[in-house]
Amino acid sequence: MDFYSGDINKLIEELAALPGIGSKSAQRMAFHIINLPHDRVKRLSDAIITAKETAKYCKECYTLTDQELCPVCANQKRNHRLIMVVENPRDLIAYEKTQKYEGVYHVLHGAISPMNGIGPSDIKLKELIERLKGDVDEVIVATNASLEGETTAMYISKLIKPAGIKVSRIATGVPVGGDLEYIDEVTLLRALEGRTEL
Ligand code: ZN
Repeated sequence: MDFYSGDINKLIEELAALPGIGSKSAQRMAFHIINLPHDRVKRLSDAIITAKETAKYCKECYTLTDQELCPVCANQKRNHRLIMVVENPRDLIAYEKTQKYEGVYHVLHGAISPMNGIGPSDIKLKELIERLKGDVDEVIVATNASLEGETTAMYISKLIKPAGIKVSRIATGVPVGGDLEYIDEVTLLRALEGRTEL
């Protein structure tokens, strides 16, 4: 069923392969792009390529950034002895939007999931342990309230506690199975303030 030219189909296929984009949305986006002025399309494609080429992990917290250090890690006013562990950069942004958290982060890029074959060495846990050799007062585990998130929280707690560092878990209020990025700021803050020691 080739209604469009091969090139248009190729664009639709590429867009449809993105997360959260169904084939109808992909078609709509493709037609929108084709109807844009040439310079707008060039800006879009340049932005994609440049972001891809310059994006790297922050050397402290492993979030995505285009600098050596992300803006949070580079900020000396933040409390670098308080580390919040999150699953991905989107969770970091969710907490940053509350504008109330003053510590820094550690981005795991996933969670332990034996069912999906994701073990501790597949996420940025070694890197977390390495960071804890510095001066750290508390590690707040803010992984998602899913089975994987809880498994990861338990694992981190067992790993860190012998080092004598306080480990806490964000409170419930974050619904079970809930992705942090979809939770409103008030709920996130409440979860942070009501954290309990593991
Ligand atoms: Zn950072």
